[in-house]
Amino acid sequence: MNCYCGSDEEFEDCCQPFISGIKKPATAEQLMRSRYSAYVNVEVAYLIKTTHPSTRKFHDPRAVENWATSCDWQKLEIISKTEGEAKDKKGTVEFKAHFLNEDNVPQIHHENSNFRKELGKWFFVDGKTF
Ligand SMILES: [Zn+2]
Repeated sequence: MNCYCGSDEEFEDCCQPFISGIKKPATAEQLMRSRYSAYVNVEVAYLIKTTHPSTRKFHDPRAVENWATSCDWQKLEIISKTEGEAKDKKGTVEFKAHFLNEDNVPQIHHENSNFRKELGKWFFVDGKTF
């Protein structure tokens, strides 16, 4: 099975090692993709852990869990990105997450997310939704 994030790789070779903590995402896009896969799998602890400490307080674990489970995640589409490579300290990733809501109506969560790297670890900071 291809990874939830839509890459050509298996989940076990793509996002899962990040979610389980075996590997660290090298780029902002890898973190973004693994966070999408974490939403699909309702890996709340990973979503909180990869949120920057400065904005973590705005993310209630129970609300994250409710949002993750109430959506039937269909696919991730990366629209654009700036910086966020292994050598960078910050970056943005614009994406569309396609999902079905509880009434099975297709929805799109369109966001431009800010990421920051500290002590070799990428964090999601905040995002602007469209
Ligand atoms: Zn993946």
